[in-house]
Amino acid sequence: MFGRAPKKSDNTRYYEILGVPKSASQDDLKKAYRKAAIKNHPDKGGDPEKFKELAQAYEVLSDPEKREVYDQYGEDALKEGMGGGGGHDPFDIFSSFFGGGPFGGGGSSRGRRQRRGEDVIHPLKVSLEDLYNGTSKKLSLSRNVICQKCKGKGSKSGASMKCSGCQGSGMRVTIRQIGPGMIQQMQQPCNECRGTGETINEKDRCPQCKGEKVVPEKKVLEVVVEKGMQNGQKITFPGEADEAPDTVTGDIVFVLQLKDHSKFKRKGDDLFFEHTLSLSEALCGFQYVLTHLDNRQLLIKSNPGEVVKPDQFKAINDEGMPMYQRPFMRGKLYIHFTVDFPESLTLDQCKALETVLPPRLATQMTDMELDECEETTLHDVNIEEEMRRKQAQAQEAYEEDDDVHGGAQRVQCAQQ
Ligand SMILES: [Zn+2]
Ligand SMILES: [Zn+2]
Repeated sequence: MFGRAPKKSDNTRYYEILGVPKSASQDDLKKAYRKAAIKNHPDKGGDPEKFKELAQAYEVLSDPEKREVYDQYGEDALKEGMGGGGGHDPFDIFSSFFGGGPFGGGGSSRGRRQRRGEDVIHPLKVSLEDLYNGTSKKLSLSRNVICQKCKGKGSKSGASMKCSGCQGSGMRVTIRQIGPGMIQQMQQPCNECRGTGETINEKDRCPQCKGEKVVPEKKVLEVVVEKGMQNGQKITFPGEADEAPDTVTGDIVFVLQLKDHSKFKRKGDDLFFEHTLSLSEALCGFQYVLTHLDNRQLLIKSNPGEVVKPDQFKAINDEGMPMYQRPFMRGKLYIHFTVDFPESLTLDQCKALETVLPPRLATQMTDMELDECEETTLHDVNIEEEMRRKQAQAQEAYEEDDDVHGGAQRVQCAQQ
C-alpha cells in the first residue's frame, strides 16, 4: 500500500491528506480523519483509493512512535520499519475508530481485528439452455442490515452496559464434572448477551430494531448467468450477506447446479446428442431436424451412399457450448448414432436383401467336413448382466479367501 509513495523522503503528504498542519494535536487528527473518512467511505460512494490513503495517513499519524519516524524520515522509513506486516485494512482502521463508541465517544480501540461475517451460499438451478444462451435471474433474498435508526448500537442513547453474565467478555466459563475426580472447563459464548459482551437497558432499546442492532431487509439480486458457465461455478456478490455490528459483511455466493437435459449432455465445451436410426436410414441415408438449445433448427443429413454403423459418432464443429467469456468460440456437437435393427426377417425379405447386399461368405464345406464338426446352440444373453454376476461371485470368493488366509492372499486373488 506504500507503492504510491513519492521517491523523495516526503514527510508532509500524510498531513496534506488529512488537511491538518504538521503541528496538529491528536484531537485535531481525529477530527480531521473522522470528517474525511465518513465523506470518502466507499459505502457512501466515496473513492476507495482516497479512503485507503486517509486510513493510511491516520494510522501513522495517530501513533506517536510512527509519527515521529514519519516526521523525521518520511514514508519510506516506515515502509522498511513495518517489516513483512504490510499495511492494515482501511476498513479495519475506520471501524476501530468508530467501533468503540458513537462517533468519537469511546475513542479507538486499536489492534482489534474485525470479525468476518459468514458467507451465505445458495444453490442456483440452471438448465443447459441457460448456460448455452446466458440468462439473468432475479432473486429476492432477506438479509439483516445494520439498523439505521440507532446506527447498529441497539440503543436510543448509543450507550450499552457491560453484560453482567460475562462481565463484558462475551464468553462464559462453565465447569462440569465428567467423571470421578475429573472436571472439564468449557468456554462458551455468553447466552445473556449472545457473545457480544454487552446488554442494553430495556428502556433505552432502539424502537426500530428492538435492541437487535440489525433489521431484516428484502433485497432483489440479479444473478447474471453468462454463456458457457459451468456446473458448480460460483457467482459472488461481495458484502451482500447479513450485516452485523463490528463485522465485515460476508458474501452471498450462488453455486450453479445444472439440471439434467433430456436430449443433450455436456462435456466441457462439447455437447453430445443421442440419435437412433432405423436400419433403412443407416443403410440408405437419413435426414432429420435437430432443435438446438437456442431453438435453431439444424438439418442433419448423411452423405449420399454413406452407411452409418451402430455406435458411430459424428461431429459438427462450432455447434457445442459457447466458451466462458469467449462466447463467440464454441466446442463441438457430437452425435452418437444407435441403429435400430429389425427383430427378425421373413424368408422372402432375406431373399430380397440378398439380391442387393454383398454376397454371404458361405464357406464351401464338404459333407464330410461338416460331419466332423460338433453341433452347437446359440442362445441370447444379456452380457452386462452376466458380467455383473460373475464379478459378484469373484468378490464373494475373494472375501472368503481373505477371511481364511488374511491379507497375503490379496495379490494372488487380484491376478486370478
Ligand atoms: Zn454476556
Ligand atoms: Zn436500532
